[in-house]
Amino acid sequence: MAKLTEGAGLGTRAIHAGQPPEPTTGAVMVPVFQTSTYAQPSPGVALGGHEYARTCNPTRTALQDCIASLEGGKHGVCFSSGLGAVDAIARMLRPGDRVVSGDDVYGGTWRLFKKIIEPMGVRCDFIDLNNVALETAIPEGTRLVWLESPTNPLLKCFDLQVIIDHAHKAGALVAVDNTFATPIFQRPLEFGADFVLHSTTKYLNGHSDVVGGVVITNSDALHEQLCFIQNSVGAVPGPWDCFLTLRGLKTLHVRMAQHQRSGMAIAEWLVDHPEVERVHYPLLPSDPNYEIAQKQMSGFGGMVSFVLKGDLARAEKFVSSTRYFTLAESLGGVESLIELPAIMTHASVPPENRAELGIDDGLIRLSVGIEDLSDLKADLEQAFVASRS
Ligand SMILES: *Cc1c(COP(=O)(O)O)cnc(C)c1O
Repeated sequence: MAKLTEGAGLGTRAIHAGQPPEPTTGAVMVPVFQTSTYAQPSPGVALGGHEYARTCNPTRTALQDCIASLEGGKHGVCFSSGLGAVDAIARMLRPGDRVVSGDDVYGGTWRLFKKIIEPMGVRCDFIDLNNVALETAIPEGTRLVWLESPTNPLLKCFDLQVIIDHAHKAGALVAVDNTFATPIFQRPLEFGADFVLHSTTKYLNGHSDVVGGVVITNSDALHEQLCFIQNSVGAVPGPWDCFLTLRGLKTLHVRMAQHQRSGMAIAEWLVDHPEVERVHYPLLPSDPNYEIAQKQMSGFGGMVSFVLKGDLARAEKFVSSTRYFTLAESLGGVESLIELPAIMTHASVPPENRAELGIDDGLIRLSVGIEDLSDLKADLEQAFVASRS
């Protein structure tokens, strides 16, 4: 296989980056290096740096290099879950440091910062960074700014360029959780982010069969720290999980194009539906995030949320009566999922905070999969009828 050219496209990178044929046999797929340790030719001499599999594993290296290439980054470091990846960045903080995060982050990220990191003496503030003076929200000396864009479940977008520029002026590092957008539609390193993070559990793997995470950076110094943390803490993914994720990645660009076509079509259909109160999908001109999304995203994907008319009981009935949309947490797989944030993913957020954030009782979140669009629409239509009672 030829080495990737400088300008190779994302589809080509997804299939080839970090994955030359295996040198001893020519195997086209990166093998699952299911080994905990490696023979050394003489004491202290390791072949290709391979001493022990917590520190280094070729299947993991291929995955790290492939994702880094997709994000336009120099380095990728994989972890055993998305939260393991969040934790690796959080471990760079020290008592007295301050973290400023967008207000609408993944619940597990909020819990890690608020319940684990803050008690260690790090101040963690969660702020709606779209509607506030950044000089006040991100004061001089802030150590880390955490951005998730688009957010979950309201699909709010933050202006990456404006916030990253301001954060850097204040002396902060910036991490962007790019799980929802994927590098196919948004590449935060291009806006100057110091870290990009993914729960590879979602779109990157895309088949709902692996839990994993990754951090990508362009900085050699930050990469060195991340590798030190990866090896010292040990939250590493196993070779099978890396293999499955690499296999999923190969179709990322094709899957995302279909998620995008069906997501957009369903969002447009819901906007005109008489039993729908409101639709969140930033590629709709009526969405308040439309302008920011146009600036920094080349597409959006399959995440759509909407408010069903009626009470919570009706919403519960709706999400229990779909056939192809499986009632489940998580997102980003080839199969369609449906969930009710108020009593599922966001049940731990107190009702008054949910109301403040705009998470109504009737808010339904769809992860639109890549089944035939006509079947998905018919499935939702029969749920509108079934939930009418
Ligand atoms: C799922 C998710 C995470 C956490 O990842 P896990 O792989 O479940 O640990 C972090 N951020 C976002 C946006 C997510 O959707």
